[in-house]
Amino acid sequence: MSPQLTRVALLGPPGAGKGTQAKRIVAETGLTHLSTGDILRDEVGRGTELGQAARGFMDRGELVPDGLIVDMIGGRIGDARSGFLLDGFPRTVAQAEALDRISPLDVVINIDLPREEVIARLTARRVCENCGRIYNLAFQPPEDPSTCAACGGRLCQRDDDREDVISHRYDVYENQTAPLIEFYRGRELLQEADGRMGSDAVFERVLEILGT
Ligand code: AMP
Repeated sequence: MSPQLTRVALLGPPGAGKGTQAKRIVAETGLTHLSTGDILRDEVGRGTELGQAARGFMDRGELVPDGLIVDMIGGRIGDARSGFLLDGFPRTVAQAEALDRISPLDVVINIDLPREEVIARLTARRVCENCGRIYNLAFQPPEDPSTCAACGGRLCQRDDDREDVISHRYDVYENQTAPLIEFYRGRELLQEADGRMGSDAVFERVLEILGT
């Protein structure tokens, strides 16, 4: 990997494949994976104060307030001294400006996917409740649609992967997160990958961008 590109963020609508790509990228590069969605789901699962504050926003497909998110992720970014891969953060211009003050990025990879494709993918998404592996019943179905092929855990649907919530999450993405594309293009940090290419081709493109 290019030694200069160790502070990386993945941008893109829900369902574009950020989580799947992030797992493959960290396995290849050793960067620390920081997913605000995963951290929040863990906080909700443990019933912490932050989890209780975040839960309603998440269930409705809204963004959790910037202050809570920046407090939650700031320390973890500071601890990831050998580099990090952000997945699901920043999601607003205010978060991007806060991140600039904590640790400016080296590159932002935008994985784009149109709305109808997002809805088709996310309604078919299942996640292993044990190991977190992500499946898609439409595109890469496991042999048994209720069981993780890797660890035997139960496959579940995320509460926010219902069609009405997905559609709202896409609106939230367009209104609040998509402006970051121009924000980072203006800083000459933006690189693009077409999410419709499929997981393997997107991964190849990401490795090319990272110089791996
Ligand atoms: P994700 O797994 O990235 O799709 O995130 C799931 C949900 O967690 C989102 O719909 C938001 O409610 C919340 N969330 C995750 N990351 C952020 C963020 N950076 N800012 C605000 N809310 C977030």
